Amino acid sequence: MSHIYYQRQKDSLKKAWSCPSQFKEKETQRKYKEIWDGRTDFITEAIENDGYVFEGDIYNYLDGVITQLVRANPRLIAQKPFLMIDRSTSVNAYASGNNMIAVNIGLLAFVKTREELALVLAHELAHNIMMHPENGMKNRAEWLTSDEYKQSLNAVLDSKYERLTRLKKVFEGYSFDRSRHQRYHEGDADSLALILLKNSHIAIDPSFFLRLDSADIQYRQPLKKNVKDYFAAYHLNVEESWMVKRTKGLSAKNYSFNTSTTGLADSLKTHPDCQERYDKTKSQQSANSAFTPVPTPLRDKSMKMMIWSIYCNGNMTACLYRVLLEKDKGNTDPWYDFMFNNVMSGLYYADKKLSRFNAITVKPKEYISKNYYELETMFEQMPRQKLEEFHNTLQQAAFWSSMTPPEQGFKSLMSTLLTDSDDSDKQKAAKAFTTNYPRSLYCEFATPFSKK
Ligand SMILES: [Zn+2]
Repeated sequence: MSHIYYQRQKDSLKKAWSCPSQFKEKETQRKYKEIWDGRTDFITEAIENDGYVFEGDIYNYLDGVITQLVRANPRLIAQKPFLMIDRSTSVNAYASGNNMIAVNIGLLAFVKTREELALVLAHELAHNIMMHPENGMKNRAEWLTSDEYKQSLNAVLDSKYERLTRLKKVFEGYSFDRSRHQRYHEGDADSLALILLKNSHIAIDPSFFLRLDSADIQYRQPLKKNVKDYFAAYHLNVEESWMVKRTKGLSAKNYSFNTSTTGLADSLKTHPDCQERYDKTKSQQSANSAFTPVPTPLRDKSMKMMIWSIYCNGNMTACLYRVLLEKDKGNTDPWYDFMFNNVMSGLYYADKKLSRFNAITVKPKEYISKNYYELETMFEQMPRQKLEEFHNTLQQAAFWSSMTPPEQGFKSLMSTLLTDSDDSDKQKAAKAFTTNYPRSLYCEFATPFSKK
């Protein structure tokens, strides 16, 4: 499990991250320490709970890029940072201060070239070099102990009416101020990132910012075929009526799904200002440089880890949609058939636990395509006996013959979970799985059952 790999980091974080004395005011210093320790606890707890993943080849690849950046910038970066791979599926990375950076598995599945990855890593290194995370914590401590904050808080508490609304305004004032600073920080981090890259002789590709702009609309990408055709490939017959909403309240009959895969209001994006960041950096585009594609095996692994992560998060619709998008790219790897099967058995399992609706995880319509909506609707409305039937048919599917022992092991674990056997049998099956395949990714799913 990943926490074993990161154990050394975790122990040294606790030791190394002792809050420096920054403020004469005792109260402010105390608040600063509280925020500082809160961050350290958050990260060490995430390590303990396997919030970070470890995959040797991906880690080494990232490490190679970071080493190049660090070696070429000795005056700016004194020490190689701690690097972590976060299991989050969002297309992002972050700097936590104290020379630690984390890269989300979602970003790894998204980047196409080594240069795109280097741009993101350099940007995060820049945040740490400029001490943005530390300064953020300092500003917060100062604000929370400032007279201005206390006065506005007191004014709210003294008021007789609309306390909550007024309280909200106090915090909004603060967060507005912070996001305004945040924007300057982003610009500064981009500028420094370009310097780090130039020193390292890594080509610069500002058009990545434009691609990053599409990161939030991946589920708006329509499918190449009708939803039911993907199921027909496994001899599963989807009835059209499942995709038509019967309930009135949630109906999307009058909603016109956006058919273009560009443009989402800036306020809905995880990465606003992408166009602006591109405009500011495009003059730095390296001339006639060839970009190095991320090696296919690494891209494959990242994509699989991300899809698996979506599955473990319990979002069956998003998981299947990713699988279908891979199929649309012409990917014939039978592992995606395995995941198709897992989604259907996962949904069947959720239904038995009366949590089918949670497993569908409805997304706001602005973010999804008509096909995605059809899939959500179908998952919501198909009868339970059909789920069982689909599950049974998939058990016999041809792709199983090309699956490795861990997948076969996972198949038998799932069928035990789906039988009405008692909890101790389920626990036994999960324990057997983690014992037989201790290094398998699928342990993430099995471990919680083995502990119940
Ligand atoms: Zn940033």
